[in-house]
Amino acid sequence: GQVAFITGGGSGIGFRIAEIFMRHGCRTVIASRNLQRVSEASKKLVAATGQQCLPVSVDVRQPQTIVAAVDEALKEFKRIDILVNGAAGNFLCPASALSFNAFKTVMDIDTLGTFNTSKVLFEKYFRDHGGVIINITATLSYRGQALQVHAGAAKAAIDAMTRHLAVEWGPNNIRVNSLAPGPITGTEGYRRLGGKFAEEASQFDAIPLHRAGNKTEIAHSTLYLASPLSSYVTGTTLVVDGGSWLTSANSFPSLLGIASSSAK
Ligand code: NAP
Repeated sequence: GQVAFITGGGSGIGFRIAEIFMRHGCRTVIASRNLQRVSEASKKLVAATGQQCLPVSVDVRQPQTIVAAVDEALKEFKRIDILVNGAAGNFLCPASALSFNAFKTVMDIDTLGTFNTSKVLFEKYFRDHGGVIINITATLSYRGQALQVHAGAAKAAIDAMTRHLAVEWGPNNIRVNSLAPGPITGTEGYRRLGGKFAEEASQFDAIPLHRAGNKTEIAHSTLYLASPLSSYVTGTTLVVDGGSWLTSANSFPSLLGIASSSAK
């Protein structure tokens, strides 16, 4: 009976989060820049789950598009209980080759986009009704992952934002948490950042659980953070990576090999 607003809900991890939420009786709003993409995704989600799903076009860098989408969602559903900030952009690139604009773009989409969307939801609904915010981040900054200064910095800033907003908005009955996935198969992130090299079995030996994760595992962990099962959990980051960040290689040359091979 609840309503979830999911940015990046038209593809990858965000799509699976929408699906799993809908299978648990939630209605969803899926938001991204490409209206055709979210419209087609919405049809699939409705057909698979029998729940309602509203596709909306949003660029999280432009607050007025978020305001319009949230207004439309509230008109349709009269409530929004859960916000999942999943929209992001990423690619492998050494800092020395990264343009100023490329760094800024990732910060704009990931970090500012998360703030923009959270603030609009707060003002339009959560301030008076409470709510749950889940920010999808990453483990990249924990060990200074090579070729990821842009995304690592952007996601680390979101984890900080999670704690700040949890403190400021806790009195409004709003819980704010991050969820940091490890390598997740069948996603754009996995294709871009690991590609076929990450599929090689030997790559998984370094991960304590000896395998990559899947989208459903991320969706189930997100469901936990969205549900009353986590009612006393706020301001934290749930790492869902099979223990990967503790042990995986951070090899500059091998990542560069991946980067140059996938560019061919
Ligand atoms: P994905 O399918 O590429 O998801 C990214 C989504 O963000 C897309 O639906 C995209 O849709 C949307 N988006 C991009 N820029 C946007 C903007 N300016 N405004 C609104 N929406 C925008 O990638 P994914 O791999 O499933 O990743 C989902 C989340 O998990 C991301 O936050 C990612 O950083 C995180 N993550 C993934 C992995 C992994 O292994 N895949 C690991 C760690 C963390 P449009 O192009 O239509 O806008």
